[in-house]
Amino acid sequence: MGGHDVNNDVNLKQIDDRYDIVIAGGGVTGAGTFSLAVGRGLKALLVDAKDFAWGTSSRSSKMVHGGLRYLKQGKFLLTRSAVKERERLLKTYPGLVTPLEFLMPVYRGIGPSRTAMRTGLNIYSLMAGRRQHRSFDLETCCRMAQGIRREDLVAGMGFMDAQVDDARLALRLIFDACDAGGHALNYTRAAGIGRNANGAVRSVVLKDSESGKEREIRTRCVINATGPFAETLQACPRKNFHIRPLRGSHLIFPKDRYPLDRVISFAHPEDSRPIFIFPWDGCLVLGTTDVDFEGDLHQEPGITAKEIDYLMNGLDFLLPDLGLTPGDAICATTGIRPVLSRKTRHSGKSASNESREHVVWKDEGLVTVTGGKLTTFNLLAGDALKAAQPWLPRAVSSNFGLNSCRPPMDGRLASLTAGERQRLGGRYGHRVTQFSSHLADVGKAPIAATHSLWAELRHGAASEQVRHLDDLLLRRVRIGLLLPKGGLGMMDRIREVAAPGLNWDDARWETEIRDYRALWETAYAPHPQEANHDG
Ligand SMILES: Cc1cc2nc3c(=O)[nH]c(=O)nc-3n(C[C@H](O)[C@H](O)[C@H](O)COP(=O)(O)OP(=O)(O)OC[C@H]3O[C@@H](n4cnc5c(N)ncnc54)[C@H](O)[C@@H]3O)c2cc1C
Repeated sequence: MGGHDVNNDVNLKQIDDRYDIVIAGGGVTGAGTFSLAVGRGLKALLVDAKDFAWGTSSRSSKMVHGGLRYLKQGKFLLTRSAVKERERLLKTYPGLVTPLEFLMPVYRGIGPSRTAMRTGLNIYSLMAGRRQHRSFDLETCCRMAQGIRREDLVAGMGFMDAQVDDARLALRLIFDACDAGGHALNYTRAAGIGRNANGAVRSVVLKDSESGKEREIRTRCVINATGPFAETLQACPRKNFHIRPLRGSHLIFPKDRYPLDRVISFAHPEDSRPIFIFPWDGCLVLGTTDVDFEGDLHQEPGITAKEIDYLMNGLDFLLPDLGLTPGDAICATTGIRPVLSRKTRHSGKSASNESREHVVWKDEGLVTVTGGKLTTFNLLAGDALKAAQPWLPRAVSSNFGLNSCRPPMDGRLASLTAGERQRLGGRYGHRVTQFSSHLADVGKAPIAATHSLWAELRHGAASEQVRHLDDLLLRRVRIGLLLPKGGLGMMDRIREVAAPGLNWDDARWETEIRDYRALWETAYAPHPQEANHDG
């Protein structure tokens, strides 16, 4: 089976009639499952009803972490496997998954005590197999975090975790797997499952989300990796349980508003929940909230007034003299977390106390995998394939695997810094050679103060299955989150660089820009909208 060229013209007509496995959902869970399936030599198809990584996998906090707070909830296994995954991902994707230092100021009477933190961090270090944390006295802590509240500050604790560009991780998994023989379609919904007389899966109906065209594909195995949409393909098999969608929002600020090269994680004074402010791609990100989501899952959610107040109150507590206001924010993002919850207890249980562990449900060839964390996508993928095993052909060995994805050296990258080369290798893997072919035309300049290069915009437009402008600006490069007004003020230059890859006429560009502006205003503008419900 030859893989698809990942260009902009792949559609329902070009795929095969039969697959060993069809994966619904192109977030990191589906992408990881696709990658693992292709790695096992299976003939695999991945579809996403919207764009790849359209869901929470482009709107997370971008941490690759063990989840220190899960230790407090006694979730030792979850934390240990996440720490192991963090270590593996740092080795496998250098430049995409990068180490990130955390500082946790300890305040008297708010959040965990110094002793509790030290105990937690000792366990965390043990799980990683090396000591990764330090204590700081009050003065050092204040030097590390300029302007930090001194009142009731006892000390600081530092430790290491990691960060990733979430959407690029999903895209890297998908495109690497396509290069190794997998097929992937965005804007294609898994609309129905066909079953034989015994109830076993025999086909899946795929529907182009925009043209409405349908095609039935033969397969014995469908993986439902649709995140919060999981119950649209399979009802929760556990009596009295259901998927409870929880929203989490971030505000993004310009980096020059506060000097920060590490995460500051602290307990929010209102509810002692951990929140953080961290550097990402030339900006500062403040997050996150954790409340019930009550809107329409099919629309990209925007931040609410309550969430903005909550985040800003947290920041005012930590950095009382900084004077940042919501008006200084460039952008806001909101992700939806599916957690398995008891229906009756739902309203009583606080969102943050719900388990973050993933679930796997099976039904005669249909396997649902949802919940969990971005960090542990590979474990979710492994569990999904294990559950699917009875419906899959015997795996054959393949030379494609996560560890064989090291990017090749390319002489055209020589003029870039070592850091830039590593970053690009991490984002594009073997496709870095395709990317570098654009350097001669577009140059190596970054887009404004972001780390993204204009040549990446050209590459995304030309070779990464972009159907709409938001695919390009929000997920192939992330400038829609990092530039004021989502980059609308630079649209002439964006169009000039992207146009050769997109083949859109003037009318199409006008429609795309209009739609992008409307989307950005409702879902990414850092001010609340009428339609954004407070949970
Ligand atoms: C605010 C927030 C912050 C987070 N931060 C972190 C973090 O820092 N670190 C971490 O490890 N984890 C984090 N998480 C968790 C992590 O982001 C999620 O676990 C992960 O992104 C979920 O990926 P997914 O692929 O399961 O779902 P999603 O990313 O939501 O993807 C589901 C996809 O399915 C598609 N789809 C839906 N229906 C269909 C259909 N019928 N057919 C085809 N496709 C369909 C959707 O379009 C979507 O693209 C965070 C979660 C939230 C909410």
